[in-house]
Formats: sequence, C-alpha cells, structure tokens
Amino acid sequence: MDAQSFREFGKAAIDYLADYLENVRDKQVLPNVEPGYMRKLLPEEAPEEPEDWREVLKDMDRAIMPGLTHWHSPHFHAFYPTANSYPGIVGEMMSAGLGTIGFTWMSSPASTELEVITLDWLGKMIGLPPQFLSCSPGYGGGVLQGSASEATLLCLLVARERYVQRLHEKNPSLTEQELRATKAKLVAYASDQSNSSVEKAGILGSVPMRLIPADEKFQMSGSNLRAAIEADLKEGLVPCIVISTLGTTPTCANDPLREIAAVCSEFGIWHHVDAAYSGAALICPEYRYICEGIELADSFNFNPHKWMLVNFDCSALWVKDSRELVAAMSVDRAYLVHTQQDAGMPDYRNWQIPLGRRFRALKLWFVLRIYGVKKLQEYIRAQCKLATDFEMLLRGDDRFEIFTPAHMGLVTFRLKVKHMQNFNRLS
Ligand code: PLP
Repeated sequence: MDAQSFREFGKAAIDYLADYLENVRDKQVLPNVEPGYMRKLLPEEAPEEPEDWREVLKDMDRAIMPGLTHWHSPHFHAFYPTANSYPGIVGEMMSAGLGTIGFTWMSSPASTELEVITLDWLGKMIGLPPQFLSCSPGYGGGVLQGSASEATLLCLLVARERYVQRLHEKNPSLTEQELRATKAKLVAYASDQSNSSVEKAGILGSVPMRLIPADEKFQMSGSNLRAAIEADLKEGLVPCIVISTLGTTPTCANDPLREIAAVCSEFGIWHHVDAAYSGAALICPEYRYICEGIELADSFNFNPHKWMLVNFDCSALWVKDSRELVAAMSVDRAYLVHTQQDAGMPDYRNWQIPLGRRFRALKLWFVLRIYGVKKLQEYIRAQCKLATDFEMLLRGDDRFEIFTPAHMGLVTFRLKVKHMQNFNRLS
C-alpha cells in the first residue's frame, strides 16, 4: 500500500468510526449471532491476491458489525466500563503509525520520556504521595502496563524476588536449592472479593493466593488478614504479598488500606493496591478518602482504560522503589546495552514482563491535554451522579431492592422475589 492509498483508507476508516460512534446508541447492544457465525461469511483461506481496501471496509459491515457487542453504547451496562474517546483513538493511531518499540530509553527516547512525565502528571492528579513519583527524590516512578492483571502479576513476581534476595543477603551461605525450597513456601493474600486476575497472578507466579473472607461491608479487614498470616506462619509458610482492592468487582467496596498496611509492615510484606476501576475517581479530591494510607503501600495501579477516557490498553502502575522492579525483571544482553543507561531515565523493559513495548503514553497524553483535569473531573462526577440518580429511581420502585448503594458509578440491586415471576414472563 502506498502513502496515497493509506491517506484514503485512513480517512475512510476515521469516517467509519465517527459514524459508528455517533450512531452507536441506536444499535442493539448484544448481537444476535450464534457461535461460528463468521465462518459462514468469510472464506476458508487467506486471499491469494491483494484485495482493494474498499472491499475490506465493506466486509466490516457484512462480517464484523453483526457480531459486535456495542461496549460504547449508552445502553451497555455489563461488567465495568471500558473507556474510549476521540483523543484516545487518535493517540492510539499515532502510536501505531509511529510504530516505535521503547524498551530502553535509547530505543525511543520520546516514548520513555513522555511516559515518565505523563505518569507524574497522572500521579499528581490522583493525589499520589510524592514517594511514588519520578519527579521526587528517591526511586519512585510510574509505568504503563497493558492491564491491571499484568500489574498484579508483575508486583507478585517482584515481591517474590525481593523476599528471596533479602533472605540471601541475610544468609549468604544458602544454596540455590535452599533458596528455591523457601520460594515454594511463599503465600499471598487478597480479599475473596478481589478480581479473578488476582487469583490468577498467584497461579501464574506459583504463590498460592489466600482469599480472605470479606466482612459485612465486603472489605478485607486487618484482623482477618492478620489471622490468616499468623496461621500460615505457624505452618512454616512465608507471607510475601498482600493485594488490597479499591473498588472490588462485585460491589465496588474498598479495603481499608491503612489497617492492611499496618499488618504488612509488621510482617515485612509487599502491599499492592489494585484500584483498576475506581482509581480514576481519585482525580476528584472528594473521593480520595478511599485511599487513606496509600503512602504506606509499595505499589498502586489503576486503569485509565476503564474510566478515564483512554481506550484499552492503558494501565498505570506506580512503585515506591523501582530498583526492586529492576532487580527482579532485568536480564541483560549486549544488544540491549546503551550509553545513557545510568543517566536518570528508566529502561522500561526492566519495569514490565515483556521486552517490547508500545508507545502507550501518547494516547494518555492526548486525553490529558485535550480534556484537561477539569473536564475529566466533570466526567467522573457526572457518571457518579448517574449512579446516585439511578439509585433514587430504584428506591422509588417497589419491585427492586438495593443490595449496595451507589458507590462511584456502581449500584447493585435486585428484583424482589415476589416480582420474579412477572419478570420471567416478560423476558
Ligand atoms: N481488578 C479489578 C478490581 C477489576 O475490576 C478488574 C476488571 O474489571 C481487573 C482487576 C482486571 O483488569 P484488566 O482487564 O485491566 O486486567
């Protein structure tokens, strides 16, 4: 494809998306297709000869649209939201078009430097303590991951390596085999309300995840956590990381960070905070009460791709001591070395699991600049108001009962049993 065709194709694609997003509210959210529907619409083999882009775009309507779930319809209320916006889309397009891979500073200095700056901006916007920011003295800093799941896994792996390294420093005579045997005794903790990705991180990192029963407010209390840790210590196990949640997936509950941090510091355990959804609300000062005690955590993560108008994938992670990430994640080769390695900018390959990395900060930067903090705050507040308005409607309707009141953009409610039959008949 030459540049001229690219211009035409690209402009047609932008028009296609603008038309789609302008009219998405009129589409039925859930498609009416059966599994395997697309096989009937597409050939069995890839085309032997080049096809015209116009034909490909036509097939978007014929084969793709009928099977699309319209996540950006205002009628979509499943799961949690996924963000999108015109500035985010253009940022994504720029990142794809420039096509850089910024695994070291030298491999694309602008990618690294924009990420460092935007994560400091974002960290300040949500009121993170300075220890997490790279513009402050110390070793704090932020990095973009693909998802909250990756952020949790990364922190679990780093916590595991930190434990082993500390043990080795205290007991230099321990053999590789003895260190490995200790690794097998590590355990992790999270609430039974935590996201599935938290348990999965434990599975992938070979660190069993204890799911602590939440209390009546759906929170993991410090006392329940302590009891689980003490029971494990008695069994000769080694607590390694605790994952607190701000905004649990079922009810948007918040674990009490300060209480949990006190337990973590007493036992020398890494404390990671997963605020995947509700972290975006922290750009509004009135919601910062939920992260009281955050200054005591080791790492904090939230997803601008959920609720802050940056399209998937864009998950922001901050750590207090980036040296621990580097110690766990760096594997050096001659071809990765560069002359500016110790000049104060991170080599982000050592702050993540993969080697290669996209220029994700561009879309975040576009969104932050084109909306500005004020418009983003207005957006969050308007969404929270929709939830409280909806709760009022439910309270005025005898058929429903509230399970948990509006918190952030979520209200959980149910149909009263006596109305079930009517509902079944209607549906
Ligand atoms: N953590 C929480 C609290 C979530 O609500 C979710 C998704 O809803 C996740 C983690 C997973 O996020 P991601 O898809 O970015 O891995």
